[in-house]
Amino acid sequence: MKLHSFNIVNFKVDGGAMFGVVPRLLWSKHIPPDEDNLIPLSLRSLVIETDKRVVLIDNGIGDKQGKKFMNRLNMFGGEGLKEGLARGNYSPDAISDVILTHLHFDHCGGGIRKDTSGAFIPTFPNAKYWVSRIQWENAVNPNPREADSFLQENIIPMKDCGVLNFIEESGIFCEDIELLMVHGHTPGQLLPLIDLGTKKLLFGGDLFPTRAHVPVKYNMAYDLEVLKTMTEKENYLAEIADKPTAIFFEHDVDVECGLVSNTQKGYKITSTFTLKEWLS
Ligand SMILES: [Zn+2]
Repeated sequence: MKLHSFNIVNFKVDGGAMFGVVPRLLWSKHIPPDEDNLIPLSLRSLVIETDKRVVLIDNGIGDKQGKKFMNRLNMFGGEGLKEGLARGNYSPDAISDVILTHLHFDHCGGGIRKDTSGAFIPTFPNAKYWVSRIQWENAVNPNPREADSFLQENIIPMKDCGVLNFIEESGIFCEDIELLMVHGHTPGQLLPLIDLGTKKLLFGGDLFPTRAHVPVKYNMAYDLEVLKTMTEKENYLAEIADKPTAIFFEHDVDVECGLVSNTQKGYKITSTFTLKEWLS
């Protein structure tokens, strides 16, 4: 198996929104905000190449939206979706499966692009796109809290172009990739757990977006059901703490991967490294 990671782009969001009821005095020690109280987030993707498949997990924001929307995100840096894939010697045609953790715009927007006639088409023409059925139904009939995050041009073309496939529940996706379904952030979020033989890698998605969100009480205001998030975190952290299972952080600008320890002050990331370092 081969793994390849890349950061598509960084963007900025309100620090308070990323940490909910946690006081700024506490969260700002982990991720310092700028003068507008914004904090930087990365948009990391992961390619998992097995004997039979080339799987891409999440694909960023894409470039379909208008200037006004894009300007609000304060994007900077990163290497781009196509460019990041190319650095690993993957063309969009080579991707066999796209797993979407969920359908918030910053996780799935790169999967659909506009062609020269303005039609929305899959960026990865040979891929099956996978999303949980629960998340799909939630995204096409959005509640008012999440409606702004589900951009229908990112979502509906998957169905119209015939690339959409549903995951019904937690379970094995293919050899060495298991999908864990969680519901606190949004119903039916999928977190890939990759078996590397003697160690594992958990794709943190929006359950563990950054290293600062590992402690059970550090949660985003974006989470629909924060008590559920806390229980889900507690359950997975109990399973992976002090074991060789690293978390891969999609949104942490500074830290790609980390190992969790159960300390006297609760669960924390106690060592950090790049994916390359974790694999070597
Ligand atoms: Zn999300």
